[in-house]
Amino acid sequence: MSTLYWLNNDLRLGDNPALAAAAADDSLTCVFCIDPRWFRTDRFGNRRMGTHRWRFLRESLLDLHQQLSQFGQTLHLLEGNPGETLPTLLATGQFNRIVRTRQHTSDAVNIWDALQTAYPAISFEQHDSATLYAVDAITRWSSLPETFSAFKRALAGTPFRPEVSMPSRLPGPASIDIDDRLIESPASSAIVRGGATAAHRHLADYFDSGAASTYRETRNNLAGRHYVTGTSPWLGNGCLSPVEVLQRLRRYEAEHGANESTEWILFELLWREFFQWYGYAYGDRLFQFSGINGRRPLTTFYRERFLKWREGRTPWPIVNACMAELKETGLLSNRGRQLVASCLVNELGLDWRCGAGYFEEQLIDYDPCSNWGNWQYIAGVGADPRGGRHFNLEKQADTWDPDGDYRRRWAGENPTGPLDSVDYYDWPVITEAS
Ligand code: FAD
Repeated sequence: MSTLYWLNNDLRLGDNPALAAAAADDSLTCVFCIDPRWFRTDRFGNRRMGTHRWRFLRESLLDLHQQLSQFGQTLHLLEGNPGETLPTLLATGQFNRIVRTRQHTSDAVNIWDALQTAYPAISFEQHDSATLYAVDAITRWSSLPETFSAFKRALAGTPFRPEVSMPSRLPGPASIDIDDRLIESPASSAIVRGGATAAHRHLADYFDSGAASTYRETRNNLAGRHYVTGTSPWLGNGCLSPVEVLQRLRRYEAEHGANESTEWILFELLWREFFQWYGYAYGDRLFQFSGINGRRPLTTFYRERFLKWREGRTPWPIVNACMAELKETGLLSNRGRQLVASCLVNELGLDWRCGAGYFEEQLIDYDPCSNWGNWQYIAGVGADPRGGRHFNLEKQADTWDPDGDYRRRWAGENPTGPLDSVDYYDWPVITEAS
């Protein structure tokens, strides 16, 4: 038996049910696809993979490759759309099994289904390595509970998926020539580095600092050391699993006692879980303008406004500071994300998908379900029972940046001029037909 293990958002050896299953074979070939479509600019000027994300991903791939080599294994990087590169491998007849971590978005589901149809003699297996619950906990319901609160209530008492230990050995790779790309190590001075090694170092640092006991009081801040767990970049790329974070949290609670703050960390992990299954349940609707509730917000596309938002040149210093931090680091606090998203939707009247697309390009913790699900929530087309969120930007700045330190740090107060130009370049393009 020979297994092809297709890695995605599961770039680790520890607590990886997909790898554990794939390793139970005579030979194992590990591949990750680098899709050229990630680097193309769309008609709104966004790319799916920006510089920060790409740097973090490459560090994560390199770290995994180094760990795999200690087991005599290799991580092959295939350049191309997986819907085209994987058939080339499967057509060699070398593999009778393909394994991956269950993917939750419609494009990834469609590729899998198409491969399954094209190669009926091969066995296809998906494992739940990126979530706290396995798929059966969710599919026993006829539909996903509509709100986060209902989702949490419905899961109360359901055990989390057990942690899977790291394999003690891995079978060798199949003898097959793979035209793969070299994994280069990006030169970078970034503080948040990709890979499971950095992830575990960070997790230990965070919990050793004792900050988990005050998480609830600090979690809405805009900046600071350990004001939040800071785990999302590694969770998003699968260098860390949510079960590993949960286990570390449980150990902390056993040693230092549980309180409202430690419980709130689990609460946030459940938000992540909700959005993972939301993506799975709603398919294409995760990316559609009218979201999951069919509401069509009254918006348009003002190119000038969108560019000013992206570049942090709006009339709102707090928004400008957040956008500057995002652009320079690929990171932004949850509060910052809510404020800039609310600004784009409510103050600028823009299509929420343009903002979500820009976040996709920039965020090193980009996760399709959490990103598009949160944007839908704020735009009022998602799972928010209150029908969207509109933040008062001045009030929020006074509350969360009372001394203006954050705005100064990111030059948010720099003069920006009026929001809209008065010359004709600002006018929407009128086509011949209209
Ligand atoms: P902590 O506060 O320490 O929380 C612990 C973990 O819980 C996080 O690592 C994350 O996995 C999860 N979590 C916390 N809040 C949320 C939430 N609202 N939704 C889903 N999961 C949550 N998160 C992403 O991981 N990827 C994204 O692409 C993403 N896009 C977002 C877009 C918008 C418009 C908004 C408002 C939020 C988005 N979030 C996203 C959620 C949230 O902002 C980040 O998860 C959080 O800021 C990460 O920091 P942390 O790891 O320190 O989180």
